[in-house]
Amino acid sequence: MCIPLAMVVKRFELAVKHGDIPFKVNVYLVYDIASREGVVIDPGDRAAGLERLIEVEKLNVVAVLNTHGHFDHSDANSYYSGRYGCKVYGSRAEEYNYDRNNADSHPDIFFDDGDVINLDAFTIRVIQTPGHSRGSSNLLVETIGATILFTGDNLFKGKIGRTWPDDEFSARQKQQQLINAIKEKLFCLDGEIKVYPGHGDMTTIGQERLTNRYLI
Ligand SMILES: [Zn+2]
Repeated sequence: MCIPLAMVVKRFELAVKHGDIPFKVNVYLVYDIASREGVVIDPGDRAAGLERLIEVEKLNVVAVLNTHGHFDHSDANSYYSGRYGCKVYGSRAEEYNYDRNNADSHPDIFFDDGDVINLDAFTIRVIQTPGHSRGSSNLLVETIGATILFTGDNLFKGKIGRTWPDDEFSARQKQQQLINAIKEKLFCLDGEIKVYPGHGDMTTIGQERLTNRYLI
């Protein structure tokens, strides 16, 4: 999957388990052809294909980023930050989720809603849409001539993220919170922006605005 101009996105679909229940999760490698700089997004586990591609393409991995702190998006954080000598970026409001995981998954650098992470080849804007988890983030990655969006477990092709009750809100209230946030903060983006979710296939902002039954 190659986007015109400078940015390349590769998806690696991994099989992970929650207890005995198997499911699939996406790990992404995004890199800039000119500078060879890359970022790894949501490494829920090690992905041999991703490591091979980094080697073959002679990429310099400058950051590991998480959309949120659930284990299936962050378990291989320290493996990759150690292997490539880079920092892990994650949402401050997700600390409670990182605390539930193995200590290795904890980010080095926290971000908040609206923050802009400036890497040499990329600018990454943090857009938080809480509901699936408190600090659940979307990462808008911009480089010369291209903008793409990683939506984690917030927005999927035809679906939205699952929600759970807590002491304050019911699952349905949280789902409404997520729906409102997606409509307000993501659906104002350009319809042509490609959307890469944490699970399942890619889509676009425009396609979801028109066809996602949770959001129309
Ligand atoms: Zn999740």
